[in-house]
Amino acid sequence: MLRIQLQRMPELPEVEVTRRILESEIREKQVAEVSVNHPRVVRRQKHPTDFSDRLQERTVQSLRRHGKFLIIELDAGLNWVTHLGMSGRIQMVDNDQPEETHTRTVVRFVGGRELRFVDPRTFGFMTVWTEAELASSTLNRLGPDALTDLPSVREFVGYLRGRTALIKPLLLNQSVVAGVGNIYADESLHLCRVSPLRPGGSLAADEVNRLRIAIRTTLIAAIQQGGTSLEDLAYLLPDGKTGDFLDRLRVYGREGQGCCHCGFAIRRTVIRSRSSFWCPGCQA
Ligand SMILES: [Zn+2]
Repeated sequence: MLRIQLQRMPELPEVEVTRRILESEIREKQVAEVSVNHPRVVRRQKHPTDFSDRLQERTVQSLRRHGKFLIIELDAGLNWVTHLGMSGRIQMVDNDQPEETHTRTVVRFVGGRELRFVDPRTFGFMTVWTEAELASSTLNRLGPDALTDLPSVREFVGYLRGRTALIKPLLLNQSVVAGVGNIYADESLHLCRVSPLRPGGSLAADEVNRLRIAIRTTLIAAIQQGGTSLEDLAYLLPDGKTGDFLDRLRVYGREGQGCCHCGFAIRRTVIRSRSSFWCPGCQA
């Protein structure tokens, strides 16, 4: 197995796979009990007790996702929003299972199954927002979802026109496209053979078109594999399984190895304090 010891965070595929698993578990289920083990997890709530108070006895209606945010729609017009942060993951277990270290929140459903939020580094959060709170939150500033709502070539070209910022950090900017993070930006750029060091505005329309297709292709492939679990297993699926996209990564974490396309050694370059992996042989 590929060994990667890098700072990473769950991106769109990991959140989407989590959403799909949770959908079969908690849709139309009613909340019976809520415990918050660490106050930092509910820091986005105006009053810390709002989280438990609002969630109590609510029923899950549907689960959606925007970028890296999971939004569980409840009755009474409430939205249970989760961001997994750097190291968060959601577990679904029976209530007699022992709690793992770093379990920050436990939501028990009628019937005994529990949704647990495990987050060693506590950069993630959970919150229950009203429609008005949701509308004025950071979610309101997200760009279109990278999986379901990718901007058209024309919109993308329009956005990049005149930009001197590098394409890699532009892809990570969640107000441009929501959901792409460090791993999938590197993978997408390699797939469409565009260097991460190109200024955004220098991409021609056909390159933007290739990039768009590469983002979608990469995300769909990662979702099919259950996302990417790295060596530290910071990311696991709600059912405890690992995501298997790790072995499919073409450049990420593969510094010095031969490119699968041209054989050139993959390089690691730090761009805006994040490691970028790319191939100088075929990414121009
Ligand atoms: Zn190459």
